[in-house]
Amino acid sequence: MTTRVWDYLPEYENEREDILDAVDTVFRSGQLVFGPSVRGFEEEFAAYHGLAHSVGVDNGTNALVLALRALGVRPGDEVVTVSNTAAPTVIAIDQVGATPVFVDVHERNYLMDVSQVEAAITPRTTCLLPVHLYGQCVDLAPLEALAAKHGIPILEDCAQSHGARQNGRIAGATGKAAAFSFYPTKVLGAYGDGGAVVTDDADVDAELRRLRYYGMDKQYYVVQTPGHNSRLDEVHAEILRRKLRRLDGYLEARRKVAARYAEALSDTDLILPSVEPGNDHVYYVYVVRHPRRDAILEALQAYDISLNISYRWPVHTMSGFAHLGYGPGSLPVTERLADEIFSLPMYSSLSEDLQDKVISALREVLRTV
Ligand SMILES: *Cc1c(COP(=O)(O)O)cnc(C)c1O
Repeated sequence: MTTRVWDYLPEYENEREDILDAVDTVFRSGQLVFGPSVRGFEEEFAAYHGLAHSVGVDNGTNALVLALRALGVRPGDEVVTVSNTAAPTVIAIDQVGATPVFVDVHERNYLMDVSQVEAAITPRTTCLLPVHLYGQCVDLAPLEALAAKHGIPILEDCAQSHGARQNGRIAGATGKAAAFSFYPTKVLGAYGDGGAVVTDDADVDAELRRLRYYGMDKQYYVVQTPGHNSRLDEVHAEILRRKLRRLDGYLEARRKVAARYAEALSDTDLILPSVEPGNDHVYYVYVVRHPRRDAILEALQAYDISLNISYRWPVHTMSGFAHLGYGPGSLPVTERLADEIFSLPMYSSLSEDLQDKVISALREVLRTV
């Protein structure tokens, strides 16, 4: 059987009774939309982050779209972000009619190079959008200082960093708002789509609640600013509530897999993930780097192991974003990385047997490429 880069089935077998009970609880509650599970999950997810508010939405992309709008980003504005990210980060900026402005990533950790951000700020910049990619936080202290200096809010893309920390502070608690995805593969995943925005700001919270509900004020049922239909489903909210209680355990399991990979591969010429001082990495993906990446992947095909590349095509090189005008060579680190990185299988219920299969196949292949 193929060793998959991600698989939810072992987790489902472990948690099946609880998941089925969550579904039954919702179906028997008499409230299929905006019931006790969404409210409960929102309270518990906000509390997990030490924040006042959390608003459940239908997916991570719309969490970003609604958060951008709630922070006041308007058509024609500019949003500073990175190209080494999942395309939805950039699609969300496009959806609100704003223009993404890319800075390159850091050579060591593949995250936003914060030292390049100030030069990217113009009078039209209305948001800084760092992506805590792979499960590790962008260097937030200097970004916060820039945001304060220029009076521009930070929106954190936390779709890959549930529970990650930097100097003790949890991902999502630094920005004016933070967007999460609960797509099944994510560190905290639903059994379908889901997302949330967290914030400490009561006005942002109120605006998010209107925007996800057609733009309607739920008390008066009138629309001032037309919004979206971006509700979090009650069933997924109840499943997420149960899984949130186990989140710290999932993080521990992922770190154990990462530590095992690191130990077993440290004497090879693979470049392993770099954990920056003060960071608690949650390893949404375990990204390794090698100049002969394509040869390695080809040789590994004989071993029936499926591997991913996050990401093979930087967003600025995609034809749908050609109009932004970032030609080849405009983001050199991002472009070089895209040719050299790949990701090993990683999920909290990944068995030691499968880890060992990956490790031994990689070690064999690395001897020959
Ligand atoms: C998954 C992801 C998203 C989008 O979330 P969806 O729930 O799939 O819409 C946005 N940003 C990043 C970095 C992601 O990994």
